[in-house]
This record gives sequence, C-alpha cells and structure tokens, in this order.
Amino acid sequence: MIVVVSIGPIEWWLVDGIVAFVRDYYSRFGISAEFSGKLPVEPFSVAFNPSRGQYLGRVFLPTLSALRERLNAKAVLGITELDLYEEGLNFIFGVANPSLGSAVVSLHRLRNEFYGLQPDEEVLLERAIKEAMHELGHVFGLSHCPNRRCVMHFSNSLLDTDFKGPTYCPRCEEKLRKNLGVIE
Ligand SMILES: [Zn+2]
Ligand SMILES: [Zn+2]
Repeated sequence: MIVVVSIGPIEWWLVDGIVAFVRDYYSRFGISAEFSGKLPVEPFSVAFNPSRGQYLGRVFLPTLSALRERLNAKAVLGITELDLYEEGLNFIFGVANPSLGSAVVSLHRLRNEFYGLQPDEEVLLERAIKEAMHELGHVFGLSHCPNRRCVMHFSNSLLDTDFKGPTYCPRCEEKLRKNLGVIE
C-alpha cells in the first residue's frame, strides 16, 4: 500500500487527484494507494529555515517513515504547499529516500501564480501528479532517466516537468516491476 498524507493546508481536489492517479497506475503492480490523513505543519517545524523562509525537505522523511512503519505501508508520500529546499539548491519540487520508504512533494512552485502567470488548475494537477510519480519512483529504487518524456527525467524547471509524461518509460517500468518483486 502507498499512503498519501497532506502536510498543512492544501486543497482537497489536488490531493484527491494525485491519489486517484497513483492508485490507478500502481494497481498494475497489485499495490493500492489511499489518503490516510491531514498532518499539521507543527511536527515539521524543525525543518524551517527562518533566513530562507523555506523548509529543508529531507527533514520530513524520517517522520513520514515512522508513519509508514505504523501503517505497515510500502511507501508514504507527503504533499505540502510549503516551499522546500535542499542545501546547495534554491528550491526542490520534492525529495525521496528509498531506505526510509518516504517522500515529500511541494506544490509551492508548481503553481503558475508563483511565476506571475494566470492560475491553471488542470496544469497544476498534472504537475503535481508528475512530481508525486517521480518521487515514488525514487522511493522504489528508480534513478533519473535520460528519456525526457519519462516521469523519472530530472526536472530542473517547470519546462522539463511540463514536457515529460506522468508515467515511467518502458525501461523504468520494467525496473520498477523488478524492484517491487511483481510476479506474473
Ligand atoms: Zn529525482
Ligand atoms: Zn525512464
């Protein structure tokens, strides 16, 4: 089971859309996906860097991993509106740790309005799904893929995110199948 949680306030239709896509895709591996609750920001406030006004992404992962163990899930994916960063990077769309079995995705910089453009809900959901699928791929042992259409291609910017598809290329899917121990 893949468990999805929201961290802090977030529009329900976004979480719902992500869960529905992940559930539909991962059903081919016999893995279910479900929303399991809204977490407050508070337990993650240690990740906040006041001088940057951002949260250090990887600090979220052990807490999400503890939840994964409690729920006996394969993976836990956190979704947040908080702006995430990593040392040496201005920002990150998300981060994952395969040994912890957890990942977090930020919607903060996926919104058109962040760049002074007109909001677009359809585009926002598409981007959110891609980032969620990307980080879940990392959780299950996939690395970055040279195929620019593959969801495991590294997104340096939203141009990359918008160019790639929401699913894994055949090579990545094959690897995923192996990593997940899917027997046919
Ligand atoms: Zn990545
Ligand atoms: Zn690929």
